[in-house]
Amino acid sequence: MLKENYDHISDQIADACREVSRDPGEVCLIAVSKTKPAEMIRELYEAGVRDFGENRVQELVEKYEKLPKDIRFHLIGHLQTNKVKYIVDKAYMIHSVDSYKLAREISREAVKKNVDVKVLIEVNMAREESKFGVLPEDCTELIREAAKLPNLSIRGLMTVAPYVTDPGENSIIFRKMRQLSIDIKEKNIDNVLMEFLSMGMSGDFQAAVKEGATHVRVGTAIFGER
Ligand SMILES: *Cc1c(COP(=O)(O)O)cnc(C)c1O
Repeated sequence: MLKENYDHISDQIADACREVSRDPGEVCLIAVSKTKPAEMIRELYEAGVRDFGENRVQELVEKYEKLPKDIRFHLIGHLQTNKVKYIVDKAYMIHSVDSYKLAREISREAVKKNVDVKVLIEVNMAREESKFGVLPEDCTELIREAAKLPNLSIRGLMTVAPYVTDPGENSIIFRKMRQLSIDIKEKNIDNVLMEFLSMGMSGDFQAAVKEGATHVRVGTAIFGER
């Protein structure tokens, strides 16, 4: 059942790619398993799925301990500096870096544990009060500073778009996000790879794919309501 949902989303991603002449292989579907039991992850794992998304540190750590080690757990939720030490060697990539303070703490713990941590910078593209993320105009400055930190590898940008009923409404947000990543890439900052764009969720992942998403984070449409 879960695999059917997952395959259905994969097909929709492939359709969206075809419409804009993208290779579907460029898009990673992250199954957002937050609040769902480890058994559901295992069911998809056994069907070949490896990329999962969690938004809470403790939940990610608990699932990490229980499940096969070749699962790639993406941390997609807000991360507090005091929780960084639990996660740096368990998260495959941290999508939610939005301050220098957090980047510095990730770097510090990564050095201690002798690991390299892949991160994305979370951008509050729609400038919503309620959302985490750095404002677009502050993004380059944060990246310039964070890029100097050891054992931290900046790979791209992430955004959580507004909740909308018509997914097309977010196309402009996704387009601006892609443009921002291109602008930053052109600055050729040392140690920064603007290769990933993490954007699009259950309601708007096709719009995101058409605008260049490399990672979509889909929960409800795979696992059902939380
Ligand atoms: C929960 C969550 C998602 C998945 O949302 P759905 O609407 O269930 O697909 C994606 N990204 C982040 C950051 C989330 O917290």
